[in-house]
Amino acid sequence: MNGTHEVAISGGGIGGLSAALALAKSGVSSVVFERQAQWSEVGAGVQLGPNATRRLIAWGLEKSLVDCASWPERIEALSARTGGALATLPLGPRCQALYGAPYATLMRADLQRLLREGVERLGLTQLRLGEQLLPETLQQSDSVERTPSQAALLAFGVRAEGLKMGPQTQRREVAPLTRGNADEVQTHVTQALIGADGVFSQLREHLFQATPLQYTGHLAYRALMARADLPAHLRSNAVRLFLGPKMHWVQYPVRGGEWFNVVVLLEVDSASALGPAQHLARQRRFLSNPWHQNPTDNPTAPGEQSQDLEALQEALERSCTALRDVASLVPAWTVWPLFAVKPLSSGAGMSQGHVALLGDAAHPMLPYLAQGAGMSIEDAQALSRCWGERSLVVGERLALYAQWRWQRCAQVQRRAMSNATLFHLGGALGFMRDRALGLLGARLMDLPWLYSG
Ligand SMILES: Cc1cc2nc3c(=O)[nH]c(=O)nc-3n(C[C@H](O)[C@H](O)[C@H](O)COP(=O)(O)OP(=O)(O)OC[C@H]3O[C@@H](n4cnc5c(N)ncnc54)[C@H](O)[C@@H]3O)c2cc1C
Repeated sequence: MNGTHEVAISGGGIGGLSAALALAKSGVSSVVFERQAQWSEVGAGVQLGPNATRRLIAWGLEKSLVDCASWPERIEALSARTGGALATLPLGPRCQALYGAPYATLMRADLQRLLREGVERLGLTQLRLGEQLLPETLQQSDSVERTPSQAALLAFGVRAEGLKMGPQTQRREVAPLTRGNADEVQTHVTQALIGADGVFSQLREHLFQATPLQYTGHLAYRALMARADLPAHLRSNAVRLFLGPKMHWVQYPVRGGEWFNVVVLLEVDSASALGPAQHLARQRRFLSNPWHQNPTDNPTAPGEQSQDLEALQEALERSCTALRDVASLVPAWTVWPLFAVKPLSSGAGMSQGHVALLGDAAHPMLPYLAQGAGMSIEDAQALSRCWGERSLVVGERLALYAQWRWQRCAQVQRRAMSNATLFHLGGALGFMRDRALGLLGARLMDLPWLYSG
């Protein structure tokens, strides 16, 4: 038996660390179990709209953000086929004036580090690396009758403490089981368990009657490039969005412009023929770039070119020279199959009893609105506010959190899906989209409902 923290959080990603930080800012102690043995130092970039940066700044992270972020001046929509500009949304002072916070781009690892440092400074959170929540059954010695959701908790290895207390529900606790580095199983008695364990959340799968996670048939190819390696005309302090049939390309500066993040998002029809296990095996696969390397130096790459690289190459052959030029300079791509679930349809998808989901665990989505991390940060702030409602019992606080959040998260999930269609239009429909962008420009690209939230 271990721990006296009010809240246990499974997952030390953007969502889990944000939750720990937001709770600690209100004086609430928590324990975070992160199954990785080390904090990630690498990874791709992430865009944060003013809805997310406003919260980071309120948590006291403005200086840390300034030290590692970039501040793009605008978002540009361009044609992937011709490279021609379609529309521009100014950011910078306009964003600050309209939404009270900046639009930032940064490395995911930097965001995770600054959240972690914020958590460590407050000293109310125990961070347990290399320790994972267990999806295993805890043997029970008692024979208390249970509701189905309590039984589900037990099946997952979360022991409902205090069940014998009858109506005194406010004294109930949960006791998540974890397995640490030394392979020993631990119990952590706590008041609530927050599942921030990402897209493949075991808590969502086992405890929540969520719609199953589905492979979308889309792949994300991610790469980082040093600014010095890019020709001057390709360095831009903008988020650039090149739209093309069944694909789009996103690039933006990170680390003050020292690096550029590139993501190519492709609809790969053939991939949908693969089963879920094969998609999972493809998760985070690292691909060396055959166009960049001399085949004689790299005997494995040309012969074993995967269908993923071929798909990327095909898409880029239909694209403008500027994109092909940048692609030829990319040393390596990391490919991510993209998964999503149907948008949330009620608060029951985010909280049940003493357990709540947060971030990708609650609402996995396509990254086509660049808001997955943003929603995790918003969730964290909402959780902390609801946890402060001390007149409510724990289950009511978590239900309030879910009620507060689910509709907005569902709206973002839906918009991310519709962006997938819109961004990837080709032919006459693609032409009409480009015309509309040309005519309406910033009015079409700005998202007041999202950024002011
Ligand atoms: C290509 C791409 C581009 C993106 N771009 C953007 C963007 O520009 N802006 C944006 O806001 N979002 C973006 N996102 C989405 C964003 O990365 C995610 O929404 C965000 O990282 C979710 O954070 P999370 O903490 O919920 O999940 P994760 O970051 O996945 O963290 C989950 C953590 O839980 C841990 N874990 C899992 N299981 C267990 C267990 N059983 N026990 C303990 N620990 C466990 C994992 O190791 C991990 O550290 C993008 C995503 C992709 C794929």
